[in-house]
Amino acid sequence: MLRCSTIRVFHQERVAMAVDFGLQGQVAIVTGSTSGIGHALADALAEQGVNIVLNGLGEMNAIERTRAEMAEKHGVEVLYNGADMTKPDQIADMVKAAKAEFGELDILINNAGVQHVAPIEDFPTEKWDQIIAINLTSAFHATKAAVPIMKAQGRGRIINIASAHGLVASPFKSAYVAAKHGILGLTKTVGLEVATFGITCNAICPGFVKTPLVEAQIADQAKARGISEEAVMRDVILASQPTKAFVTFEQLSGMLLYLVSDAGASANGAAFSIDGGWTAQ
Ligand code: NAD
Repeated sequence: MLRCSTIRVFHQERVAMAVDFGLQGQVAIVTGSTSGIGHALADALAEQGVNIVLNGLGEMNAIERTRAEMAEKHGVEVLYNGADMTKPDQIADMVKAAKAEFGELDILINNAGVQHVAPIEDFPTEKWDQIIAINLTSAFHATKAAVPIMKAQGRGRIINIASAHGLVASPFKSAYVAAKHGILGLTKTVGLEVATFGITCNAICPGFVKTPLVEAQIADQAKARGISEEAVMRDVILASQPTKAFVTFEQLSGMLLYLVSDAGASANGAAFSIDGGWTAQ
């Protein structure tokens, strides 16, 4: 019995790994891909034979190790561009550099994001400005630079990593919730503008995923609410998610690969929730 189920699981894994989304040789920029969700999505694309432009902050030796490992593991070209997502010129230059280096740009994933948790009356103005710049305005600049390239190619996929907080709010996250609601508006508008050019623009709205961004919030939430970190995990974070489980990188990658493949051609201007039922409530 045990042997049978082992074989079945092994077989399912092999089948999952064998799925070919027809992306071989394409080129993707993934912003904020030195960590967390961005790194996982870049890796899933690289596994499909997509050449990658990594972006994000971090220690240079660690970033170089990440870049080299991804290239070696999947046999694709992986470049790193250190554009700061608060700097419009650097964002536009990153998109131009990708096109210059690879000759095309097929997929843009606007993923970079930061968080700050505080009551509105204490919310630092510079944190508001930073979150709006990184979580919303950077996607405008990257999309503005990418669309002419994609229109000339007659194909392209733009994916904005929004959040369940693009659809519903939580207290103490005014800037984040405003930016994520904003990015859904941007997604719809761009989707309408590019629809006849073989391009789509969609948003993925994850629930809680266990990344450094969420781990950092646990302490902040505990302070803002005056409760323990254990209570934040139990009563705040996973309380929102009916499955009582974090969303995984594999679950997000599955949605991403569908959306960027030919099968996703009619999904446009839409927000795809992967939140264990959070926003169904
Ligand atoms: P993370 O902290 O692990 O990664 C964030 C990435 O953004 C890092 O690579 C970081 O270097 C980069 N970044 C931050 N500021 C930057 C800047 N100025 N310029 C360039 N890069 C910058 O976080 P994550 O959880 O992987 O979040 C990724 C995205 O997913 C964010 O947009 C976040 O809002 C969204 N999201 C996360 C969750 C979650 O539960 N983790 C849920 C929903 C949505």
